[in-house]
Amino acid sequence: MKLLEEKVLKEGIAMNENILKVDGFINHQVDPALMKAIGEDFASHFQDKGITKVVTIESSGIAPALMTAAAMQVPLLILKKSPSKVLNKNMYQTVVTSYTKGTSYELTLAGHLISEHDHVLIIDDFLANGEAATGAIRLIRKAHATVAGIGILIEKSFQPGRAKLEEQGFSIYSQVRIKSLGENQIELLPQQD
Ligand code: 5GP
Repeated sequence: MKLLEEKVLKEGIAMNENILKVDGFINHQVDPALMKAIGEDFASHFQDKGITKVVTIESSGIAPALMTAAAMQVPLLILKKSPSKVLNKNMYQTVVTSYTKGTSYELTLAGHLISEHDHVLIIDDFLANGEAATGAIRLIRKAHATVAGIGILIEKSFQPGRAKLEEQGFSIYSQVRIKSLGENQIELLPQQD
């Protein structure tokens, strides 16, 4: 997606060979016009897939996922990192390792919000090792719902996330694919169809 590619090249900050900082337009300050365009792009890519809900992980996925859900006219389901204090027996939970923090967190989904009739689109800001997406898939499967596809804003193609998810048969669409990162240097791969 051209607009996001331009933004990444202009405003993204390569911290080192592994981490790209996007605080200025995605996950600290959010660019609403960009999020709207991102949502419309995902909606057009995944149209005709029979999607009933968009699913994301709090918190950086929420802005683009909400715009995608709005464009597709379906609800947005947010997988929570801190379990609700309200006691609820009907909860699906799984443990995910955070790429940026190197720690683990518990991901929670309330059972009454999803059913076997749901066919969901997972949206996340980054794809690195695929841990977050795999955790989301585990929860969706626990609920007997199905995964229609995975939409990623920024894929670090030099890391193993895409291969891991494709091996399991999932269809991934990444709006920007990064070939390599270095201090103050970002190299992109050609756009994905
Ligand atoms: P994965 O689970 O695929 O290993 O990592 C994806 C998650 O880690 C994303 O939800 C994102 O929050 C975070 N992440 C991974 N790589 C980066 C990065 O280079 N920059 C930022 N800002 N977040 C990242």
